[in-house]
Amino acid sequence: MVGIVIVSHSKQLAEGVRELAAQMVQGKVPLAVAAGIDDPENPLGTDAMQVYEAIASIYTDEGVIILMDLGSALMSAEMALEFLSQEHRDKVHLCEAPLVEGAIAAAVAAASGSNIQQVMAEARGALLAKATQLGVDMSHIQQETAHVSTSFVIEGQRTNDTGHVTKEIRLLVRNRLGLHARPAAKFVATAARFQSQIKVKNVTKNIEAVRADSINQVATLGVRQGHELVITATGSDADEALAALQALVESHFGEEETTLLPHYPTTSSLQHPISTSSHHFLQGIPASSGVAIAPVFLYCPTPIDIQQYHVDKIEEEWQGLQVAIQIAQEEIQALLSQASIQIGDAEAAIFDAHLLFLEDPVVLEAVHQRIFEQHLNAEAAWQAVVDELANHYRSIEDSYLQERVADVVDVGQRVLRLLTGFQSHIRISDHSPTHLHLCDPAILIATDLSPSDTARLDPTKVLGICTTSGSAICHSAIIARRLGIPVIVGLPTEILQVADNTLVALDGESGRVWIEPEPEIQTALEAKREAQQVAHQQALTTASSPAMTRDQKQISVFANIGGLSDTEEALILGAEGVGLFRTEFLYLERTTPPSEEEQLVVYQSIAQLLDHRPLIIRTLDVGGDKPIPYLNFPHETNPFLGWRGIRFCLDNPDIFKTQLRAILKASPGHQIKIMFPMIATVQEIQAAKAMLAEVQAELRQAGIPFDENMEVGIMVEIPSAVVLAEQLAAEVDFFSLGTNDLSQYIMAADRTHPRVATLVDAMHPAVLRMIQQTVQAAHKAGIWVGLCGELAADPLAATILLGLGLDEVSLNPQAIPEFKQAIAQLTMAEAEIIAASAMQQNSAAEVRELVRKL
Ligand code: PEP
Ligand code: MG
Repeated sequence: MVGIVIVSHSKQLAEGVRELAAQMVQGKVPLAVAAGIDDPENPLGTDAMQVYEAIASIYTDEGVIILMDLGSALMSAEMALEFLSQEHRDKVHLCEAPLVEGAIAAAVAAASGSNIQQVMAEARGALLAKATQLGVDMSHIQQETAHVSTSFVIEGQRTNDTGHVTKEIRLLVRNRLGLHARPAAKFVATAARFQSQIKVKNVTKNIEAVRADSINQVATLGVRQGHELVITATGSDADEALAALQALVESHFGEEETTLLPHYPTTSSLQHPISTSSHHFLQGIPASSGVAIAPVFLYCPTPIDIQQYHVDKIEEEWQGLQVAIQIAQEEIQALLSQASIQIGDAEAAIFDAHLLFLEDPVVLEAVHQRIFEQHLNAEAAWQAVVDELANHYRSIEDSYLQERVADVVDVGQRVLRLLTGFQSHIRISDHSPTHLHLCDPAILIATDLSPSDTARLDPTKVLGICTTSGSAICHSAIIARRLGIPVIVGLPTEILQVADNTLVALDGESGRVWIEPEPEIQTALEAKREAQQVAHQQALTTASSPAMTRDQKQISVFANIGGLSDTEEALILGAEGVGLFRTEFLYLERTTPPSEEEQLVVYQSIAQLLDHRPLIIRTLDVGGDKPIPYLNFPHETNPFLGWRGIRFCLDNPDIFKTQLRAILKASPGHQIKIMFPMIATVQEIQAAKAMLAEVQAELRQAGIPFDENMEVGIMVEIPSAVVLAEQLAAEVDFFSLGTNDLSQYIMAADRTHPRVATLVDAMHPAVLRMIQQTVQAAHKAGIWVGLCGELAADPLAATILLGLGLDEVSLNPQAIPEFKQAIAQLTMAEAEIIAASAMQQNSAAEVRELVRKL
């Protein structure tokens, strides 16, 4: 039977609602309450962990619906979903229905054996009876209720004043967080591809139609799971536009919530409460769990001082702004590439929304108007529009949207800094030489931290974060969770008075911070940290087993890493080796290439940690979306089609041979393999092998040992390599398919360009067929073939990849346990049938639908 969780700020209110609902159904329906907080002086509030426990207490496979009162109740409920496994999360639904009426209607429906969709529909329609009695028009709700069990499309058409036909569709949004930043970015990017004027309206919230090509307007619609949209398109390509938007919404924006939080709170970790009654602590909102004890680093960015004045040369002012925006775009692009290596493409996509902000026609028109009509200087005009927008987000009664203020401010400040030539928005602490680059491990304390700042943090140095603002669902918190850094937000401002270097302890699970903690607090927290680690290890025991189908076919599961810190985590999460070490990381954030010795230390340390498991080191894949300033790349019109990867390395033998020497020197006693990126031709692999042979000869002559049998492979990520797979296979020991690049090159769509993002989907049958072609050629030649693109981290792809005959996959470490689970449920024959059928589909959306139906 479907269960119901009631979330309220007031325990009494929640208990009352439960009593009413239980009475209606004679206690037949599982009802749980998560309400109030454990503070006798101020008991009103909500707590994500309580919501999580309430869900866990009544969970069955038939599902759970959560009804909430307001404000932070929604946030706590959303956060609680983060703690659930993917499988459970899919069956737990947040419902926007009114609390009292919704709970009663839902309970009655659940008691009659209705499924989760019907229970949701009943809850949403709960105001109908009351409204009818009071004579209020509720037709829009009736309509949704009637159609709620299916994603539906009602097509309509009318002609507008200009003679253009306006087409209309209605769609139901089903993905978990609705049109939050990333789906909103995809929605806007898709809409902007078309000539037609496209508008979108949130029917459920009765919010007026807005321009679909404005990220800010779309975001402020507050579209959540279960909301109904009406999209209209007027113009010559209206049909195509609506079809594209429909496909996007129905594919749930390509969202698969795969992330297993690295340090998510577990019930077992809760069994180690810290006795704190006699010790003073500051209470904040827990945003990323984990324990940290370290000295304080106080981070105080200096605000940029803006002067407002009259300008006559308005054209120059506008041009200056355009230049600043362009540089900001380049900076965000670089940040996005770095973040996608470090935290994965999915989380890094947060910065896609930043890029779209800079293209938002509504923002740009507003700034233009201030400069050209009011003769305001660019800084003041820009700041005024950004402030207005941020205030608009703040005023919306939607906690998720309120959290987007941080993104608006982040992008706004970036442009302002460039416009004013403001150099460093810096700290007051003196133990760091540069912006947020800490020399020693510390706990960072700040009023707030922007997503850009957070993405650049080094988790080995920043052991914890405390802020006075923010929330558990702000982008900075999401990024910090991905980096495994404990975070507490919303702390009292008292925390900002703590002097630099003071010892502080924090517990990211309870949201508590101790300043100069007593020895017993430190001991208790250390014990808790240990207990969490043990619990985490236990939860991952199945992840350390091989990925084996029911009929005992095994596929190797390796990890993609960017450095030493990822390796340890990867092993805990069940990696059987490293299938892709992106060495670009060694070259970033410095002014000269890393020396042979520096590289040797890193390669050896990782190999040592892997303890004879395979380590595939990919040689420098610079260029494209990974520009490295000191390598003096010329400006390129199409960097992805330019001087990239092996092309750059073959032209820079000094840099290339230094890396090859370091890899070879690290190889004795380990299972190191070398992999060349961006191979498009047979000549390139031959040239790369020739340079490798030169280095090997030099080492032999110098009597320096290396693994003479080291395997050499290539990334298959350019369509020509697929076509030439047979010839290339004769040159190497293995292939690894790079589907991130392969899909962008197959589709001729830049993988970092938000406007064409929906085209770059490795689930597309065109990409799947290329994978199959490569696997067949490799096996025919007797070499093994793996895949290291993000596709492997998509749980829906596991079946297909197995069925396509891959010998190995290498993925983001967090996705490993789930991948292994998916493999264990299949037989090889089943996987092959599914893969064959996937290749017959017409689109990536159809492939996903096929797998979902299984
Ligand atoms: C790929 O292209 O699929 C890949 C794994 O490499 P990168 O994302 O680093 O280009
Ligand atoms: Mg690549």
